[in-house]
Amino acid sequence: MATAVSRRDFLKVAGATMAGTAVGGVLALGGDLRPQVAHAQEARVKEAKAYPSVCPYCAVGCGILVHVTGEGKDRKIINIEGNPESPVNYGNLCPKGAATYQLHVNPNRLTKVLHRAPGATQWEVWELDRAMDRVAELVKKTRDETFIEKLPNGKVVNQTPALFSLGGATMDNEWNHIHQKLMRGLGIIAIENQARI
Ligand code: SF4
Repeated sequence: MATAVSRRDFLKVAGATMAGTAVGGVLALGGDLRPQVAHAQEARVKEAKAYPSVCPYCAVGCGILVHVTGEGKDRKIINIEGNPESPVNYGNLCPKGAATYQLHVNPNRLTKVLHRAPGATQWEVWELDRAMDRVAELVKKTRDETFIEKLPNGKVVNQTPALFSLGGATMDNEWNHIHQKLMRGLGIIAIENQARI
């Protein structure tokens, strides 16, 4: 004779059977079902100092925290993340801003300069220091040769129209501040940057 089983009874039996099967399966595989003590992963930035800065990429100007460890020559950036105290982004960053760390610490980052002398057909590999010295030398030479102290009407302008500065979005806020001072100090008046922060 067929026995009537209610829907509630059926679900109880099915649930118990499935749980029993799952437990049996775990034990059969050598698993341990006793309560375990959980450990939080130690924060990677625990020993680091956090410096507030601004995402270099766009005009939104999201706040970031740059985590740095070590002293002197051993100082290195170990992490960059959103600054939760920033009223602009409250710690959030878009995918581009969230990848800022990779801008600074990246094995593919170029550390040498390719230089092709006037008239040469081959590129020469230069150390960065040598290239920087050469750029400084040419900037000083050009500035000195083209510096205008006064206009014909006697107005003091202290400027050079021969140099132009174009910044990029990957220059951070602090660099832009110092860069602007240097350019103005040299008398350069054509200064542009696409970042607009
Ligand atoms: S995190 Fe994104 S939105 Fe914010 S400043 Fe950087 S690039 Fe712009």
